[in-house]
Amino acid sequence: MQVRLAEHLGMCFGVRDAIDLALDLTSQGPLTILGDLVHNPDVVAQIDAAGAVRVQRPEDIGTPSVLLTAHGVADRVRLELRQRGLAVHDATCPLVIRAHRALARLAAEGRHVVVIGQPKHVEVRGLVGDFDEYTIVQNEADLDYLAERIERQPDLRLGVVAQTTQPLERVQELIEAMRRRLPNTDIRFIDTVCQPTKDRQQALRDLAAETDVVIVVGGPESNNSRKLVELARSLGRPAYLVTSAEELRPEWFINCSLVGLTAGTSTPDAIIGEVQAWLEKH
Ligand code: SF4
Repeated sequence: MQVRLAEHLGMCFGVRDAIDLALDLTSQGPLTILGDLVHNPDVVAQIDAAGAVRVQRPEDIGTPSVLLTAHGVADRVRLELRQRGLAVHDATCPLVIRAHRALARLAAEGRHVVVIGQPKHVEVRGLVGDFDEYTIVQNEADLDYLAERIERQPDLRLGVVAQTTQPLERVQELIEAMRRRLPNTDIRFIDTVCQPTKDRQQALRDLAAETDVVIVVGGPESNNSRKLVELARSLGRPAYLVTSAEELRPEWFINCSLVGLTAGTSTPDAIIGEVQAWLEKH
């Protein structure tokens, strides 16, 4: 069985920089990480082994230093932490900061802010966390709420951004559905899907076109890894998400001569290498 690697795959610069910063800070003294630094169990284990404490809520921080993850937080959370006297280290990815700024610009124009993404995702919570009023759109059904608001307030203008790891095609579908549903509403969309996500999705399209089966290496909690699996399947390719080589099953590759390999933005190169070696051996 031959293996073809996606042209763009694996860890993005935002995650790589966040891990480097976490390891550097843990070598200097006690550190708490607010939230999951990355959605990859091996990397999390590595950071735990370096001595960092992980908490999900600001009130549980018990060290003088705290690290914010690449997913970002609302400004009000950052401010609260500083007011508590904590040394706040910030690993927020520059492309997440760009999404925050885009949303702030739209709000400054007097628009109702809308985020296309997963309502519970930490990045989305951070994006909307500084607004008292906002709407999160995950699917077409969520447009009902916006339609009701516009009925009550017909001059409402909308400012829309997307979670950085959403598939661009899906975001565009939802924007079109929004424009169809609200034909008289002024809607301004700023594309905040990050370039590494776009590159990985395009590379996967190319890979799926020429391979029999697609393997995505990534953690089960990794949004962008799951989206890569969904995209490959929507293109008609059997696709599987694995965290490591141990999860690969020989029966997935019956009658398969060319397997495509890609990985989410939080997957370390070493794990991709192990999966590749397993596939090449079979
Ligand atoms: S997926 Fe995109 S936005 Fe998120 S950390 Fe990586 S480069 Fe930054």
